[in-house]
Amino acid sequence: MDLVFISLTGIVTLLTIIFGIRVLLADKNSKINRSFAIFALFISLWVLVDFSLYQIWLSNYQTFLNRLDLVIISFMILAMAYFSTLFPKYFPRIPRWITILAVFISLIVILLILFSNKIIVSAWMEDYGSNFKQGSLFFLFAILQVISGLYCAIVLLLKYFRFKEDRDQIKYLFYGIGVLFVFNMLFNIFIPMFTHSFRYGRLGTYSSIFLVSFIAYAILKTHLFNLRIILTESAVVIIDVILAVQIFTSHSTMEALLRALFAVCVFYGSYILVRSVRREIQFRQELQVMTEQLAHANAHLKELDAMKTEFVSLASHELLTPVSAIEGYLSMLLDEKMAKLEDPKAIKYMTNVYSSAKRLARLIADMLNISRIEEGRLLVEKKEIDLSELVKQAIDEIKFKAEEKKQRIVFAKSQISNLKSQTNSNDQNQNELNAQKSETNSEIPRSVRDDDYVTYGDADKIKEVIINLIGNSIKYSKNPGTIVVRIEKVPTAWVKEKWQKIEDDIKKRPLDDQEAIHSAVDEHFRNFVGQTQLMISVKDQGIGIPKEELPRLFKKFHRVGDYTTAESQGTGLGLYISRALVELHHGRIWADSEGEGKGSTFTFSLPDIAAKEELLKMEAQADIKKDQLKPLARPVKEAEEI
Ligand code: ADP
Repeated sequence: MDLVFISLTGIVTLLTIIFGIRVLLADKNSKINRSFAIFALFISLWVLVDFSLYQIWLSNYQTFLNRLDLVIISFMILAMAYFSTLFPKYFPRIPRWITILAVFISLIVILLILFSNKIIVSAWMEDYGSNFKQGSLFFLFAILQVISGLYCAIVLLLKYFRFKEDRDQIKYLFYGIGVLFVFNMLFNIFIPMFTHSFRYGRLGTYSSIFLVSFIAYAILKTHLFNLRIILTESAVVIIDVILAVQIFTSHSTMEALLRALFAVCVFYGSYILVRSVRREIQFRQELQVMTEQLAHANAHLKELDAMKTEFVSLASHELLTPVSAIEGYLSMLLDEKMAKLEDPKAIKYMTNVYSSAKRLARLIADMLNISRIEEGRLLVEKKEIDLSELVKQAIDEIKFKAEEKKQRIVFAKSQISNLKSQTNSNDQNQNELNAQKSETNSEIPRSVRDDDYVTYGDADKIKEVIINLIGNSIKYSKNPGTIVVRIEKVPTAWVKEKWQKIEDDIKKRPLDDQEAIHSAVDEHFRNFVGQTQLMISVKDQGIGIPKEELPRLFKKFHRVGDYTTAESQGTGLGLYISRALVELHHGRIWADSEGEGKGSTFTFSLPDIAAKEELLKMEAQADIKKDQLKPLARPVKEAEEI
């Protein structure tokens, strides 16, 4: 039994000292930390002196030891009162004279305890431990303790209600006091009531360790300390001390040496362990702080982005009207039937101004489109459309541009007969096309082939995508060449597989590039519909695109640096808009190129009309959940007219 109490005393004293030193080291200049260290020091002394009150071999010194016990208790309670005033915020501001008076009275009582028999007359040993005879002024000591105790309780309660932000910390103090109270009631009142012995009374004293550890934790928490560090440090110090004590209890020098050697190894190991735990936790805490900062910055960026979109939208609206007027009047000026411009130089300058105005109008329209996409105000009116008809219209609209750059546009459907009818009789070109065709043939299983290419979508939007792709092929071709626009039917599984490969490739890239696989529009449009997809591809013999650039092309404002020449001014918005438009039709768009100078192929998929019912059902379902959707998925009726 004695061994248990010796160990308990040792552990509690040691832990209390460790906590005191730990807190002091965390911030030596803080009054809170210093006052706690003093409090912990008195607690550890109290535990030690309390232990001596049970030692038979110290029976001759019991009067002194009991007096010392009371003195330490007085100091301890004073330290607690001081700590309660400071922790976690200095409150209440007690006038200096009251503090001086309180300390003065306490000192008088302490002197009375130590040097007179007015508080303790004498003490002696009973079978359970020490007992003493109270002196005539013992009540002074009792009153002092009650007042100090009440002061701590009231101050802490006041702080609890006053400083809501510090409640968490004060709570730990209450827990500690609660445990101390319950243990003392149990071991000093209830158990003695039934067993008529104070044998276990000292267990109440030991429970002060809970108060100490809870307070230490509350303080260290504000220093970003972690329970794991404190526990590791405490465990390590206890083991180290036990090992150190064992050296002195050795029976031979050899044993002592071996134990010392072992202890040194363990000390070193403990040091490494504590250091690594502390580093790891510090690292994690830093990471957490950084994550929070990043999240904050991200939210801020999103806010800015939304503001920017709104601004671009407003600015574009305002700009479009005057620019359209300029464009209109310039076109009238240049129209011989409407105005007379005789000077050829003037005509040349006017033509330049006119083409610049047109470019400006196009740019503004792009910006407007982007802000509509981002704000979800893009109107998509889907109906059944014949894609081959649409491709022909698109080619007709852009043919004049192709001619300027000596590009021939060829429309090819998957059937050879169609191919022939669309191309001219130039043999070389015919061979070229056949070669391209068989190349595609080997890639795509032709299990689903049909002659009609009908989809369910918005004709204007799809035409915009086709024109954009053909326009790029013209823009990014230097030498005369052929641009092949092809429509094919392929199984949906083929497109899925192709897309999966693209996604897998992009996922290996830096985060910035991964934007290309995040839907530009609402996620529900990402679902493929039906068994078959219609695939439109635009293949050119232009400047080509380096492989690593391929997935980036569909990002907003992305342009392939080295490939932009003065004549091919662009904004890097066309493909982004095309992607959003294709995705709005449950399709995918991607680019293929063998590399620089080897031409490029841009391909996009659209659902086959056979899947119309499925598509309508899916959109209706999305409609029901529209509040949770990204804005773009809002039903068409709510979107603004373009
Ligand atoms: P813009 O043409 O206005 O720059 P786009 O979004 O249409 O914007 O195109 C983005 C970039 O992709 C272009 O700047 C160009 O570098 C590259 N690109 C697009 N189409 C082709 C093509 N057919 N051949 C080579 N590069 C292309």
